[in-house]
Amino acid sequence: LLEAHDLTLSFGETPALRGAGLAVDAGEVLAIMGPSGSGKSTLLHCAAGILTPDAGEVHFDGRRIDTLGEAERSALRRDRFGFVFQFGQLVPELTAEENVALPLLLSGTRRAAALAQARPWFARLGLDGLEGRRSGELSGGQAQRVALARGLVTRPRVLFADEPTGALDSLTGEQVMELMVDAARGQGTAVVLVTHEARVAAYADREVIVRDGRSTALSTGVAS
Ligand code: ATP
Ligand code: MG
Repeated sequence: LLEAHDLTLSFGETPALRGAGLAVDAGEVLAIMGPSGSGKSTLLHCAAGILTPDAGEVHFDGRRIDTLGEAERSALRRDRFGFVFQFGQLVPELTAEENVALPLLLSGTRRAAALAQARPWFARLGLDGLEGRRSGELSGGQAQRVALARGLVTRPRVLFADEPTGALDSLTGEQVMELMVDAARGQGTAVVLVTHEARVAAYADREVIVRDGRSTALSTGVAS
């Protein structure tokens, strides 16, 4: 579904990627592991069309996407991809429900319809009753589940998650991982996940290890 190969990218003098890649199929979970500063986030951002590599190629759904213009790439990100980051990054002025509905509102769905699509996610992710809360009134784990709902509400083909459990204790992190993997598999969404934690990577079907900007693909042998 999504495949990147031979990516190189430097920030000024700093080479962040020196021939990295990844591949993920529909409904699969891919974990990107590796030391701090090795290029994991940069690889994810290139695969998601947020950053443009200096060299290499990114293909999504049979189409090369790294050479598209920014307008086409931002439409692709909005319509086909979902995102979850380490610190949920909810909009503090909006309620939890409005935060979940936000990607739908941004792609032109009417408010009532967007909120109606957002609502079932609260029961699905164990967030019943929290629809009207603002992010400051949620626990870290609750906020991260709201961010997960927001990442999945558009039924994206690929969900990109950069350290989605990094700010959570290990039990809460495992709950969020389980919900993420189940929800993604349930709707055929591929997941590309950056993590430091082997426990989190254990949920993945495949792993890519990044070191000094180079990647090695591993198969974890976990059946999907
Ligand atoms: P961490 O586990 O700490 O999040 P990472 O593996 O995600 O690390 P990246 O964020 O991809 O690492 O960074 C790879 C390299 O690129 C690092 O040397 C980093 O300092 C550098 N880098 C990343 N983003 C930028 C940027 N916007 N400007 C300059 N250098 C950057
Ligand atoms: Mg990172």
